[in-house]
Parts: sequence; structure tokens; C-alpha cells
Amino acid sequence: MGLTEELNFWKYEQKCLKTIEALKKNAFSAYYFSNRNEALLYINEQLKIAKSIGVGGSMTIAQLGLHDIIISLGKEVYNHNQPGLTQSEKLEIMRKAIFTDIYFTGANAITTNGEIINIDATGNRVAAMLFGPKKVIVVAGKNKIVEGDIFTAIKRVKDWASPPNAKRLNFKTPCADTGFCSNCNSPDRICRIIAVIEKKPRLTDFEVILINEDLGF
Ligand code: SF4
Repeated sequence: MGLTEELNFWKYEQKCLKTIEALKKNAFSAYYFSNRNEALLYINEQLKIAKSIGVGGSMTIAQLGLHDIIISLGKEVYNHNQPGLTQSEKLEIMRKAIFTDIYFTGANAITTNGEIINIDATGNRVAAMLFGPKKVIVVAGKNKIVEGDIFTAIKRVKDWASPPNAKRLNFKTPCADTGFCSNCNSPDRICRIIAVIEKKPRLTDFEVILINEDLGF
């Protein structure tokens, strides 16, 4: 690692640690890892104690290869993101994922004040984050941290997450063409639900794993 990379890594580490302290003040459990391999060692330990696992739509979770890891451990997994599923199969999996031992998902933005912000089209992911699974584990890269308030975080999602997500999912929205949000009224609009989690949901064990790498968008 050259000096520039070293200093950038240090700066992001400070940002992650500051966010972790804020998340803890908001009653979440929160852990920092330098890279995805270290995070996966920890996640593997968590997986051992779970029987059923739900997975939310998340590029971060996909990049970590979590689905295959869960399968290799012989666990019951509910992941509607797998290819080849019909719409009704996906819906059934989304419903079952809500009542699992652990629900893994990414986050669209996490503020340095310790708030978690997500924008969903269907709402299955945010529903599971609010109530249902015994435990929720949010995994996020350093690129998801926002220095600012909830409105800055929402802007980050609409600038950086929703357009590539709309494009990835092949939705016919203006942002999928231009890369910019125009607060559309498209039938395919993916920004339908904004969920702000200010403090840990009262009856859910809730962990946030922050990794000093760019993951997802
Ligand atoms: S509101 Fe519409 S244009 Fe803006 S990010 Fe969402 S889907 Fe794209």
C-alpha cells in the first residue's frame, strides 16, 4: 500500500469507527472490519448458531458470496435474488425470509450520527429490518457512510444507489437512462418507501458490520 492509499485507508477507518460509536449510542451492535475476508470470518461464526437465514436484495451481500457460504453450511436459506425463480416463487421466499433466525442485508446509507436509511420499491427488505427475524445483520462498505443528516443520506441514495439499481433490474425509469434522479412518476419507480431507522428496533437483535472497502452502490 502506497502512502496515499495508506492515508485514505486510515481516514475511512476513522469514519467507520466514528459511525460505529454513533450506532452503538443508538443501541445497535456495531463492528468494524478492515476487509471483507475478516468480516466473513466473523459472519461464519454467526451463521453457525442459525438454522434459517433470509437474504435481502443487496449487491454487497452478493459481492461477499454469502448465498453460497450459507448453502455450503447446509442452512435453510431464503433468497429471492437467485436466478430462475418465478414472480410467485420470489414473493413466497420474501415472505418466508421475514421469519428467519438471521436476516442479512445491505444498507443504502448509514449516517455518522448512527442512522440507517433505505429506499425500497417492494418493501420486503425494510419490513424484515423492522420486525420479524430474530436477528438482523446489516453489512455495509465504507462508501455507504454519509457525513450529514437524514436528508443528505436520502440524497446519497437517489444520486448513487437508485439509478444503478434501476438499471441493474432493467426498470424503465429516467435514472436508468441518464444516471440521475428526476423524482420521476414512472410506473417502474423504485423509490417508493423511505425507511429511516434511528434507533435499534425494540424487539430485534440488530448488528451492523462496517467494512473498510467499497461494496455495493
Ligand atoms: S425517483 Fe425515479 S428517477 Fe429518481 S432515483 Fe427513484 S426511480 Fe430513479
